[in-house]
Amino acid sequence: MTVTLADILEARRAIRGVADGTPLVPSPFMSDRAGQDFLLKLENMQPIGAFKLRGALNAIARLPEGTAGVTCCSTGNHGRGVAYGARARGMRAVICMSELVPQAKVDGIRALGAEVRITGRSQDAALAESRRLAAEEGLAEISPFDDPAVIAGQGTIGLEMLEARPDIRTILVPLSGGGLAAGVAVAAKAIDPAIRVVGISMDRGAAMYHSIRAGRPVEVEEVESLADSLGGGIGLGNRLSFPLCRDLLDETLLVTEEEIYRGMQALYWEDRIVAEGACVVGLAAVLSGRLPTLDGPVATIVTGRNLDMEVFTRVVTGQDVTLGARVVKARPWRA
Ligand SMILES: *Cc1c(COP(=O)(O)O)cnc(C)c1O
Repeated sequence: MTVTLADILEARRAIRGVADGTPLVPSPFMSDRAGQDFLLKLENMQPIGAFKLRGALNAIARLPEGTAGVTCCSTGNHGRGVAYGARARGMRAVICMSELVPQAKVDGIRALGAEVRITGRSQDAALAESRRLAAEEGLAEISPFDDPAVIAGQGTIGLEMLEARPDIRTILVPLSGGGLAAGVAVAAKAIDPAIRVVGISMDRGAAMYHSIRAGRPVEVEEVESLADSLGGGIGLGNRLSFPLCRDLLDETLLVTEEEIYRGMQALYWEDRIVAEGACVVGLAAVLSGRLPTLDGPVATIVTGRNLDMEVFTRVVTGQDVTLGARVVKARPWRA
């Protein structure tokens, strides 16, 4: 089982007119800092506020007629995509999430008519609940990242970026379970293997980063982060997103909460974009000097906008932000 460019082209047909065609725009500020054209793929403009609609719609389109309903575990955005797709097909959706998922995300899912189950303090607990529901209630389970249709759906982002700008040399991808990075890397490497694809995560609880180094899926402790959408394990039984990320990503790297905080400020004050912490790991890596040599044009994906506005306001106005036992110290934005 793998994912190919042909699967991504097929996914594109499945999502056309609903989840495709987001803008790819230049960031003058980041272009200045990177010393290269720096482009933003605005997946925050998706109808559900995040790219996950692509993978969810493609997976739901492939379910057989008569499927009773769907279930999934989620850090918030995948659940919203599944809820949206299920509603369009008149299907029941049950979204399983941990207590770490921000209330704004839970509310967004309920508003789409899905049932919500909150269980435990980790993605693994949410996954166990979703598996149980699939077995006991006959619902189809859609993994947020370890599913070929989901990966192909996310891969349409890579295809669109390279169609709009075939000269892109480097793609910086926010990395969690790796469905996005795997899909984008399959598309990019099929088009030109020399395109550098970099996966970036927060420095605590980065499951894919540590799994690639260990050579097998490993568990990590889940902690609160400004990049909450990047939390959660990759599943010890990961079959697809792990091998694809291991084989196709040129590198993976980590950024700190302080760097994410500054990245959110930069994207807001310089580009006037309201986006989740998960979106800015690419900006954070460049601004903190973690990517000293960059071939341009460089592109990154602004993956979603479903954030807690109270936390966001604290970040962009330069106040302290408390994340569990940690505090990200106040620091006003200064370019
Ligand atoms: C899911 C998500 C990611 C990471 O995608 P993976 O496929 O899990 O690696 C990044 N940003 C946002 C906003 C997300 O919802």
